[in-house]
Amino acid sequence: MARIPQSTLDRLKAEIDLVELVRSSGVELSRRGKDLVGICPFHEDSDPSLVVTPEKNLWHCMGCGAGGSVIDWTMRASGISFRHAVEVLREGQAGGDLRPVVPDHALVTEFRAFHSNCFIFFGFFNP
Ligand SMILES: [Zn+2]
Repeated sequence: MARIPQSTLDRLKAEIDLVELVRSSGVELSRRGKDLVGICPFHEDSDPSLVVTPEKNLWHCMGCGAGGSVIDWTMRASGISFRHAVEVLREGQAGGDLRPVVPDHALVTEFRAFHSNCFIFFGFFNP
């Protein structure tokens, strides 16, 4: 497997809107100062512990300590590997709405399946 160039990772981390990504995972975010907060989907959260900082395009959970970039979010939210998350984000970025660059791309199909599971999962926390 070829290594993913650091420049690619930096570009994804900088160019993909984390706020949009978190919202598309079904998490409602509300503004608190320069940050946005929401219910963390990764632990049993009742008081919004998830903090998203749009300025840095980073997230962090005060409750369970999870956090990171758009890549970390995709890995956790979709339950996929680092490499898979990078692929998904790259293709999502290229297609605008997670449309595969190459039709019938197995990764994207798989991600869509994961993603619909996530909506069910997050729906449980945010009825
Ligand atoms: Zn958490």
